[in-house]
Amino acid sequence: MQRVLPSDEIARSVAQPIPRLRLPDRAAVFDRRAARLDRLAPDHALSGYLQLMADVARTQQVLLSALPPPVLDSAELARAAAHRMPVLPAGDHRRHREWQPILAGLCERLAAQEHRPGTVADLLRRVHQIPAPVLDEQVDALLGGRPEHVDPATAPFLMAALQVLWVALAAALDPAAVAPLDVPGVCPVCGSLPVASIVRGDGHRYLHCALCASEWHLVRAKCSHCDAVDGIAYRFIEHGNDGVRAETCEQCRVYRKILLQEKDQHVEAVADDLASLALDVLVGEAGYHRASVNPLLWPAAEG
Ligand SMILES: [Zn+2]
Ligand SMILES: [Zn+2]
Repeated sequence: MQRVLPSDEIARSVAQPIPRLRLPDRAAVFDRRAARLDRLAPDHALSGYLQLMADVARTQQVLLSALPPPVLDSAELARAAAHRMPVLPAGDHRRHREWQPILAGLCERLAAQEHRPGTVADLLRRVHQIPAPVLDEQVDALLGGRPEHVDPATAPFLMAALQVLWVALAAALDPAAVAPLDVPGVCPVCGSLPVASIVRGDGHRYLHCALCASEWHLVRAKCSHCDAVDGIAYRFIEHGNDGVRAETCEQCRVYRKILLQEKDQHVEAVADDLASLALDVLVGEAGYHRASVNPLLWPAAEG
């Protein structure tokens, strides 16, 4: 005999489709990052730096809240989506010069905080004085995958200002207007690389964009750099936070961090990636290369 299910039971039994894209929450994205950095900073080898970046994230939230919601060109978005291209490409930064006043505001606000050491205040003054054409060139290098042309001292602040604008742009999108790309390892919103991936409480894994904080779905146990499914392994520091692991790939010998909410519900992609440098050292010594940089920490140029 067939049993008649009550309607709520029927509703539950229909599998929920996996959201392909999670756009950033403009009201909270940077505050959440700041709170996580505050939590990770005490007793950390990089305590001072994590605290500075927590202040950066808090200031980003203030600046974002003050920005009017951007008006997007729906015809242009549709054209990009039809060609399976990122709808708000980061390479268009010259068309979005609003990020430069955001950078000025970021420097002024951070420098005005009383507890700031003199060296950081000097650095902020230096960032504030970079002429616009040099800023454009620096951003070309930052977003164009040419870290050898990046000034690692000023880069985190430039990225922070760009993030504010690109989160505002991304948050104004309708997720349905964003097409999946043919390259799964690139942000479908802005075309930037992910900083890390995060397995959410529902068990689905998302890549987290280093620029616009959008997240897009990628199945688990797959290399986010070369798409390989064989030879994937997970490494973490014994007696450390086992919610933060490095997903290594034998095919391309590259790794990217993967954060597990089921182990630690407060993990945040940029903050936890930044605070787990010891894991980078360990995996680097084992012969794997990092897939992409953390937007708030740029390596010094070699040689
Ligand atoms: Zn993005
Ligand atoms: Zn790979």
